[in-house]
Amino acid sequence: MSPEVKPDFLISPEGLRIDGRRVDELRPIELKVGVLKQADGSASIRQGKTYIIAAVYGPRELHPRHLTLNDRAYLRVVYRMATFSVPDRKRPAPSRREKEISMVIANALKPVIFLEEYPKAVIDVFVTVIQADGGTRCAAINAASLALADAGIPMRSLVPAVAVGKADGHLLVDLGDEEDKYGQGDIPMATIPHSDEIVLLQQDGSFTREEIMEAAQMGINSCKYLHELQKDALKLAYARKPGDEGDDDDDYEDDLEHDLGEAEIPGDE
Ligand code: UDP
Repeated sequence: MSPEVKPDFLISPEGLRIDGRRVDELRPIELKVGVLKQADGSASIRQGKTYIIAAVYGPRELHPRHLTLNDRAYLRVVYRMATFSVPDRKRPAPSRREKEISMVIANALKPVIFLEEYPKAVIDVFVTVIQADGGTRCAAINAASLALADAGIPMRSLVPAVAVGKADGHLLVDLGDEEDKYGQGDIPMATIPHSDEIVLLQQDGSFTREEIMEAAQMGINSCKYLHELQKDALKLAYARKPGDEGDDDDDYEDDLEHDLGEAEIPGDE
């Protein structure tokens, strides 16, 4: 493989990015639900060249027992990169970065899961990055929340996530790897779309107050779009095929739309 060369510019004079996208354009995204046979729930995401699989097991008995929480389930997230997922072989031992991202993903997902329904149990979420091309923590959240839904875990909402960054003085959504490496900074974020609550917000690099406000709005808009893609992926996995026996298909679609889009958060007006 030839060594990577720093591009002369990340935004062209015409305002386009190195892969031809506009600043507010996401990479092509493919979400699939139920991709693994053994897991209780699973999902995969392709976001540009980033490729990630998420598997969910549980709720189940928690080992080691000293981690037990008496009033709720323990959400255990393990984010790992395959050794072949990055240009330089990734050492198999868990890195500090992987531990940090595992925690960040768990913190983004906890607010939407009814953990209190499963005291003392564990819900395990395993995320494996098969190929990394930037934005892996956000793509992991997109896939993990779908895998949780596939496992039948009661949730208030799915959680879409995207990184908004800055390059050549322009704000741009969904950074690719070169934009991540050579840009001026990035702000990974995740939201609960129906309330615009932000459940993940990190910042790398420097942004003005105005840039942060604009970036947050760009992220919220992109998350609304990602949420539609997540719902479509679930519908594709669960909607009955025409001709199947049982409920009327239209009623079923209406129920699914209601269940996915309008779960109420206690205390939320
Ligand atoms: N990366 C790498 N080796 C590593 C970890 C990361 O080459 O051990 C690269 C990889 O391409 C990844 C990018 O760095 O997509 C960005 O990583 P970051 O920590 O910013 O997280 P991400 O943007 O993927 O959420």
